[in-house]
Amino acid sequence: MRDQQSMKRVLKGIAASSGIVIGRAFLVHRGRVRIPQKSIEPSSVSAEIKRFKRAIERSKHQLREIKEKILAEEVRRHFFILDVHLMILDDKMLIQDTVEVIKTRRINVEWALDIVIGKLNTAFDTIEDEYLRERKHDVNYVAQRIFRNLLGRGHDDLARIKGNVIVVAHDLSPADTIQMNLNHVAGFITDIGGKISHTAILSRSLGIPAVAGLETATSVIRGGDLLIIDGYAGTVIINPDEAISREYIEKRKQIRFLEREVLKYAALPAETRDGYRVKMGANIELVEELPLALRHGAEGIGLYRTEILYLNRKDLPSEEEQFDTYRKVAEGIAPSSAVIRTLDVGGDKFLSTYGYDHEVNPALGLRAIRFSLKEPELFKIQLRGILRASAFGKLKILFPMISGIAEVRQSKEILEETKEELVREGIPFDEGIQVGAMIEIPSASFIADALAHEVDFFSIGTNDLIQYTLAIDRINELVSYLYEPLHPAILRMIRGIVDAGHRAGIEVGICGEMAADPAHILILLGMGLDELSMTPFYIPRVKKILRRSSYEEAKQLLDEAYQLSTAAEIEEYVKKKMAERFPEDFTLGYYWDGTA
Ligand code: PEP
Ligand code: MG
Repeated sequence: MRDQQSMKRVLKGIAASSGIVIGRAFLVHRGRVRIPQKSIEPSSVSAEIKRFKRAIERSKHQLREIKEKILAEEVRRHFFILDVHLMILDDKMLIQDTVEVIKTRRINVEWALDIVIGKLNTAFDTIEDEYLRERKHDVNYVAQRIFRNLLGRGHDDLARIKGNVIVVAHDLSPADTIQMNLNHVAGFITDIGGKISHTAILSRSLGIPAVAGLETATSVIRGGDLLIIDGYAGTVIINPDEAISREYIEKRKQIRFLEREVLKYAALPAETRDGYRVKMGANIELVEELPLALRHGAEGIGLYRTEILYLNRKDLPSEEEQFDTYRKVAEGIAPSSAVIRTLDVGGDKFLSTYGYDHEVNPALGLRAIRFSLKEPELFKIQLRGILRASAFGKLKILFPMISGIAEVRQSKEILEETKEELVREGIPFDEGIQVGAMIEIPSASFIADALAHEVDFFSIGTNDLIQYTLAIDRINELVSYLYEPLHPAILRMIRGIVDAGHRAGIEVGICGEMAADPAHILILLGMGLDELSMTPFYIPRVKKILRRSSYEEAKQLLDEAYQLSTAAEIEEYVKKKMAERFPEDFTLGYYWDGTA
């Protein structure tokens, strides 16, 4: 038995989603296991083969158990997949090949199985047939289960999460997150990931506190441990004593009070004292978030991420399903507009139906518009859904990850073909629907002047623009310290994009997380942005700051920041200035955006 007192610890990570929550840990064994590689003596070969067979039997037993439970819970679509996994566990080739490798190369079973799976993956990659390619994921999933059994690691069925727990995982993909019954999840903490990983963004939009990048959470936290998540400071306290728990409950009360106070700004326009008006948009990914966006004072949807519609399912969303969703968005936000971003998969969001999740470097791979252009039929289905919904409200189309003019033209061509199809079929849509480009790749920023003549608006995606400009993986906590929105290069870039857009007479907005940080508001205002779009929760506070500032002081602050040479100097200077101007937003030692 561990001494509870000695296990009382504080872990520091990255504040991914604000809020304070106290609850019991639920460990989820996600993320790949490390495969040990050992040579073995000839005398150990048969023992190693036995170990392999035992792990296979154990895996089968676990799957059958899960299957029984799923039957009871009537989640039928899992049923089919579990049968496929059981079939793989019976696959003679998988078993015989692994045994053969153990015998001939005299290596441990984990290593042997890893070699066999590696070969299978390569073979799968060459298969054209979509259905067969999909089986690759199943084989890998089963292999992970065998590895875990060999190495004595646990498994978790995400749909099983019950109670009001804090999910502790090495990593969570957005697909993992949405598999859970989120009503039972009070918080998320992960070893890896950062503030702008898609899971962090999803947590924020769902209002679930989260801390990422804790590095050692899954090794030091045990299932059932009492945890406090401080999603403002990015800390996790393990097994706190009574006094600390009380302190946090009190802190939560105070912050909730301040949040309620700031909500009073929700209904007011985002206008500076000297009359500069900024449009406040909401970033959402579920229709269900619309009421939340409106309650927080959104004047439109600045970014509707459509990925959720596609993730974590066997089939693809039909045109009808998409039309229905986008129509709900259009009608729900009317008379304001909603920007529907076309599919942005890849990076840390994989579409399991297509076998593209084996890329060595997915952030630089077949992501977003590149994927849509490679799969034009799939792209057209989405465009048809958006166009048809545009007859029911004001929608705009946004293409993600544009790197050059050719991609915009190609996308617009496919859009035109889709429009012609609808005209031929007599289906109504908004013929003047606006088309925008996300500016989130440095190449697009450098040619913003030319790109501005190809589209109706720009939306700057700072999450990716920072990632690609500063060459830091947005989900890698080891380099998250370099994720510097106020880096001089980023400021120059954003300013250049805004100026280029304005010279061409188009509107320029920001929909990256940077827009929601109170410390950045005046700097962004000083650039002359037309729209700021963010997680709904942050809108009232941004309005509050804007309404108590002037455009003139914002431009001055930007000019002063321009005089400084390093990101750290700029950040220190801007935060100091903002804390002086808005002391109540820095109460309790917190920045409300989560930075301690
Ligand atoms: C961005 O990159 O800033 C953005 C808004 O898009 P996403 O976070 O979905 O990549
Ligand atoms: Mg992006």
